[in-house]
Amino acid sequence: MASQPVPCIPVPLLDVNRQNAPLQVEIQAALAQVCASGSFVHGPACQQFEDAMAHYCGVSHAVGCASGSDALLLALMTLGIGPGDEVVLPSFTFFATASAVTRLGATPVFADILPSTFNIDPGDVARKISSRTKAILPVHLFGQCADMKALQEIAIDAGNLPVIEDAAQAIGAEFDGRRAGSMGTMGCFSFYPTKNLGGIGDGGMITTNDELLASQLRILRDHGQHPRYHHAQVGLNSRLDSLQAAALNVKLKRLDDWTNGRRRNAERYESEFLQSGLNACVALPTVAPACTSVWNQFTVRIRNGQRDAVQQHLAAQQIGSAVYYPIPLHLQECFSFLGYKQGSLPVTEQACLEVLSLPIYGELTLEEQNQVITALAGFFGISAATTEQCAA
Ligand SMILES: *Cc1c(COP(=O)(O)O)cnc(C)c1O
Repeated sequence: MASQPVPCIPVPLLDVNRQNAPLQVEIQAALAQVCASGSFVHGPACQQFEDAMAHYCGVSHAVGCASGSDALLLALMTLGIGPGDEVVLPSFTFFATASAVTRLGATPVFADILPSTFNIDPGDVARKISSRTKAILPVHLFGQCADMKALQEIAIDAGNLPVIEDAAQAIGAEFDGRRAGSMGTMGCFSFYPTKNLGGIGDGGMITTNDELLASQLRILRDHGQHPRYHHAQVGLNSRLDSLQAAALNVKLKRLDDWTNGRRRNAERYESEFLQSGLNACVALPTVAPACTSVWNQFTVRIRNGQRDAVQQHLAAQQIGSAVYYPIPLHLQECFSFLGYKQGSLPVTEQACLEVLSLPIYGELTLEEQNQVITALAGFFGISAATTEQCAA
């Protein structure tokens, strides 16, 4: 064990350049090919990426679109969801999950989460189903699938409600051996640069095993025209850019390696926390028995109102961390008309006060991870066994 204090190195929460830089030559060649082809919209690169994603997720159809937000919107539109309809979804998620519902004039009905996984609580979903419910929209948060078995049972009991998976954070994650985006009626993905499979800009995709829904999605993402200049319905312009698809084709081949890196880092946090006793102060995330996580985030809980102080302590040592999410959606100003109050979803509200996401990306070095662990241990006056305090 080194006894010399090592200098602090800044540890970013995420550094997309570390992943992209080694692929620069290959990505640029793929982009050059698109430029030379002149096929900028729905070209061969898009088709190739849709096929590769369908194969990766274990579904028969994948439909590219402009973003994860649009993927959610298109999925709901395809089901004909609109004014007077309700969609049950978590409040502890990124804003786009709920805004897709309100943009169509439908009503989001927020369900609470399970404290163990941060994912939607099937028991609360069952309580929130009404005669107006038209879909259930679980989010596979932080890289782990929601309890799809329980949710499917509720959906069937409620008269075969469609289940739309918001899989933006969970590409490759499995539930009972099935991949995110392959279990529900449709799955929605995002290729925003910070996702596990990130493009060089925006991009999104909807997966489904239903051929009719897939063709409907293809029509809706192209202004609803079918055939050309014939509009039976109003769609939108939401296409997957060929340049994005070309870059994503290069990156998808490496996704499993990157996911393995995230898993290795998660295991290392776990073993170090347990060994040092740090887990008594910084509660580790839990993975449900039916699940494998792809660790889009490694999100710990820090209780007793100490979360913000811990985050400041990390920031003082140039260690990045983030609070996903500080304000639950049911308490957002724009959703005040829905009538939720402080206390409406207690488990969600508690999570918002306690969560902190730590650096987890596969390119994180051992030294960097040690620094995160040591800084956390330092805050709580615990000596982390295998690491050394760095000299600030
Ligand atoms: C990122 C994200 C989205 C939106 O994806 P964009 O591509 O940024 O529009 C939707 N839901 C969740 C859970 C996300 O994390």
